[in-house]
Amino acid sequence: AARSSGEKYKAYVPSMGQMFLRRFQLVTQFRQALESDQVSVHYQPKVALPSRAVLGVEALVRWVHPEFGRLDPDEFVPAVEAAGLVDALTDFVLDKALVKIRAWLDRGLRIGVAVNLSVRSLANQDFPDQVAAALERHGVPPELLTLELTESGVMADPARALPVLRGLHTLGVVLAVDDFGTGYSSLAYLRQLPVDEVKIDKSFVFGMGSDLGDLAVVRSIVELGHSLGLVVVAEGVEEDAARDQLAAMGCDVAQGYLISRPLSEERLEAWLQARTTK
Ligand code: C2E
Ligand code: CA
Ligand code: CA
Ligand code: CA
Repeated sequence: AARSSGEKYKAYVPSMGQMFLRRFQLVTQFRQALESDQVSVHYQPKVALPSRAVLGVEALVRWVHPEFGRLDPDEFVPAVEAAGLVDALTDFVLDKALVKIRAWLDRGLRIGVAVNLSVRSLANQDFPDQVAAALERHGVPPELLTLELTESGVMADPARALPVLRGLHTLGVVLAVDDFGTGYSSLAYLRQLPVDEVKIDKSFVFGMGSDLGDLAVVRSIVELGHSLGLVVVAEGVEEDAARDQLAAMGCDVAQGYLISRPLSEERLEAWLQARTTK
């Protein structure tokens, strides 16, 4: 064991060094990237089940880096978060989302936008006031804005997160628990959170066609969510069979590649146009 770990050591050092360097570069370049056109927001549609009416979209950040190309948010968002820079990202996405909602309203369309929150926002006691001011500034009714938070984000520091959630809830924005089912105290805590919507993690939705365990998890989240009066959303809907099964269970909303991939602003407009003129 000692001999092979010595060999591994040699092989791993440079790549870890490179990863560290890349992460360091990403973090130091992030603010500037936000101000240039490297960072943008894409939108993934959410549709009602079974009608398939478009209810809203989820805002998902995209970064096309001049050296590294398209970056996966699962790589840079955690890095930006760890470096304490995520508030700038949240402000950026929230602002784009509100501009978008307002522009749609001006064209007679009521389409909501969901924005992903970081743990940091939930620890910021001024966050509800900041959101209220942003809604006011853009002339957007609160019910068209959804804020998605993860259970682990809430559980990181519930004593600080709860008053922030209550403040947001009082404003009338929609609160959604993202990646539901992946945390481990899920069921007990969901009851105590002032939330409106639960999003079933895509890992269970992917597996539900072939794995009875995943199917059981999905079914019980739908039932639990409904018994708590929540809207239940399934993400990661890639196949007709999954959509039909979800609709049969009474799941309220579907999001996934079957409906659409996340789209640039321009492509989203074309997608919406095609849907509404059909
Ligand atoms: P998430 O909030 O769970 O977002 C859903 C992710 O699932 C997105 O990945 C979306 O593209 C992907 N997805 C949706 N439908 C399907 C499907 O049918 N199949 C598959 N395979 N994937 C699907 P994306 O855009 O790469 O984002 C990854 C994560 O990065 C997000 O997970 C979220 O945690 C984070 N993120 C993205 N944008 C933001 C942001 O603006 N702020 C913060 N704080 N985090 C963000
Ligand atoms: Ca999300
Ligand atoms: Ca999710
Ligand atoms: Ca996720």
